[in-house]
Amino acid sequence: MTTVGVLALQGDVPEHRAAFAGVVGPQGVRLVRTPHELAGVDALVIPGGESTAISELIDRNGLRLPLQERIGRGLPVLGTCAGLILLAERLEPSRGGRDPTGLRVLDVSVRRNEFGRQRESFEDGVRVTGLQGDRFPGVFIRAPRILEVGRSAKPFAWRGDEVVGVRSPKIWGLTFHPELSGDPRLAEAFLRETGASD
Ligand code: GLN
Repeated sequence: MTTVGVLALQGDVPEHRAAFAGVVGPQGVRLVRTPHELAGVDALVIPGGESTAISELIDRNGLRLPLQERIGRGLPVLGTCAGLILLAERLEPSRGGRDPTGLRVLDVSVRRNEFGRQRESFEDGVRVTGLQGDRFPGVFIRAPRILEVGRSAKPFAWRGDEVVGVRSPKIWGLTFHPELSGDPRLAEAFLRETGASD
């Protein structure tokens, strides 16, 4: 059975846990706070939240090197919003804010808080390569923007002309929050297409 870990340091951990429990069952989801817990999962979700806080807690919990090593050895990872910011190889300085130290494993450059404040959050349809049916309901909350996609990453989700999802191939980064949409298609596609559920 596939075990999906949710990095549970800060952010919308319960929502991701519930979303993946709907796909792999409650026994298939574990919270990850330590290197030992990381070692026991077949895939990992880095949730949305506050990327600066998550980054500090990654260091405090001794997870930076273990995360970089396991992701480097092919652990499937899904980063949403703050999670994408933490996966990005390059962070452009955001306006006015501090920026986190990333894991630098996904070949994109991003800038956080590109759409203004909390009240500028919005929902919109997202076109996702390979998903059957309607557009995916994208929930964008103080979202980052993907400024550039490098050679080893591939865009696979768009809002209009704008890239809002990138993968490389086992590291998936989204600027929006599938866990808040009630739509399981992206979680299912992530596990299937990264081979996590084999
Ligand atoms: N603005 C947050 C950050 O920069 C991300 C917001 C989110 O994850 N919903 O970390």
